[in-house]
Amino acid sequence: MRPGLQSEMIRSELEDVVGEHFISTRDTDLAVYATDWSWMAQMWLDRGEELRLPDYIVHPGTVEEVSDILKIANGYRIPVIPFGGGSGTQGSALPLHGGIMLDTKRLSAIIEIDEKSLKVTTQAGIINTQLEWALNEHNLTYPHYPASGNCATMAGFLAARGTGTISTKYGKAEDMVLSMQVVLPNGDIIRTPAVPNHSSGPDFGRIFLGAEGTLGVITEATMQIDHMPETRLLRALLFDDLSKALEAGRRMMTRRLDPLVIRLYDEHSTRTRVREILGYEMEGAYMVLGFDGFEEIATAQEQRALEICADLGARDLGREPGEKWWDHRYDFYYPPKNLKLPWMYGTTETVTTFDKIEALYHAKKAAIEDNYADWDVSYIGHFSHWYHWGASLYDRFVVKEPPQDAQETIRLHNRIWSSAVKASLANGGMINDHHGVGIKLGRFTREQYGAAWPLLQSLKRTIDPNGIMNPGKLGFGY
Ligand SMILES: Cc1cc2nc3c(=O)[nH]c(=O)nc-3n(C[C@H](O)[C@H](O)[C@H](O)COP(=O)(O)OP(=O)(O)OC[C@H]3O[C@@H](n4cnc5c(N)ncnc54)[C@H](O)[C@@H]3O)c2cc1C
Repeated sequence: MRPGLQSEMIRSELEDVVGEHFISTRDTDLAVYATDWSWMAQMWLDRGEELRLPDYIVHPGTVEEVSDILKIANGYRIPVIPFGGGSGTQGSALPLHGGIMLDTKRLSAIIEIDEKSLKVTTQAGIINTQLEWALNEHNLTYPHYPASGNCATMAGFLAARGTGTISTKYGKAEDMVLSMQVVLPNGDIIRTPAVPNHSSGPDFGRIFLGAEGTLGVITEATMQIDHMPETRLLRALLFDDLSKALEAGRRMMTRRLDPLVIRLYDEHSTRTRVREILGYEMEGAYMVLGFDGFEEIATAQEQRALEICADLGARDLGREPGEKWWDHRYDFYYPPKNLKLPWMYGTTETVTTFDKIEALYHAKKAAIEDNYADWDVSYIGHFSHWYHWGASLYDRFVVKEPPQDAQETIRLHNRIWSSAVKASLANGGMINDHHGVGIKLGRFTREQYGAAWPLLQSLKRTIDPNGIMNPGKLGFGY
């Protein structure tokens, strides 16, 4: 909104709610909140282009203030974008149409740690690691260990259906949530039922998981937590090829051996990323395997898993390369070892069932390598989050010498990403496993949901008739 009479009126109303100190329209603040961690936004800025700025940054300190902000925004029909850590990679927090950035980080209190039921109730804007530190003082853990834990918020992970390193045993963030407090676009403050497993009607609370701020603001959540494990066993194995390693993972999961982590790198990643970060020169498919809990149970589970791997010809590399991976597991995503500008890259990750996962991987690899050879594209993938029924494929494309022109390079980015997503959809995969949709994948939600898409659209229209919540995301349009 350009400065003017109305913008000052709105600012004054917002100031009445949060106080002068907790609202900003300073240029530098607007610029900080204009971007997230998506490659496209970072590239845009890197090439000297400008991003759409928000109009106001507000930092509410209570749920009532959040409610009042939404009532004001509804009155003036201006967008509201919930903003946690800004670490999203799909452009889901970009203020495409300006409006109010509703920063949740003042809502960071831990309300209750219940050591009997093993649950914690916190406000939504707490940074993941702060919550973990507080729980560790009680010898407890919030077993959601994402690479962005030091900067992303608890609700940011619920809003994007995020996941962490040990999700194979403990689930994604969405699996750990018992209940939530949510502020609807009209300002109503609601709570989802206290427990998720009941037979008292449909589980409406789940519509806010993965909604990426398009249906309301999550202000509080009660999450399952766990005891710190007595032991955590890690080791690494090397398979001749990816196919045998995928089969080993499938057998472990379908036999419910309950691994903490199965991190399986394809042959290309083993040759490149594992060497660059861990320093191991290897040919084949590198797998890190972990178990935790009571020592004797974890040891027995690990033993059975090793038997499965041995049957498929794997070489047991022992504990040291597994433990080294654990210590360096986030180095893959941060300087100096991360993928970074001026390279073009995208994480086109997906998830599917075991009967399709190997074919899906090969289809995506071919869709990228065969169609974009002129750009000397490389395709790397690993399988990071495993379920009883399937696994997620965390795959990436990298172009080290993309076009310099911002428009041209983003067009190529979109084309490569489209080829990857179309290969996912054609082979039984989802458009995404855990980074969300944002604007990057919004054009695919219609195809993903097919005949069910109008139902989702009408849900959005019912909850947010004025379209104020994070417009332009998830494929909902303005
Ligand atoms: C280096 C790096 C490593 C990463 N590693 C992982 C990983 O291991 N696992 C993983 O899942 N992701 C990972 N991500 C992606 C990112 O951290 C996640 O998408 C995370 O969920 C974003 O949380 P945030 O608090 O930063 O949210 P933001 O980026 O601020 O927002 C993300 C979306 O959630 C919405 N939102 C935020 N707060 C609320 C709220 N209170 N109510 C409603 N909607 C809200 C926003 O409007 C936006 O649509 C990584 C990102 C980076 C940069």
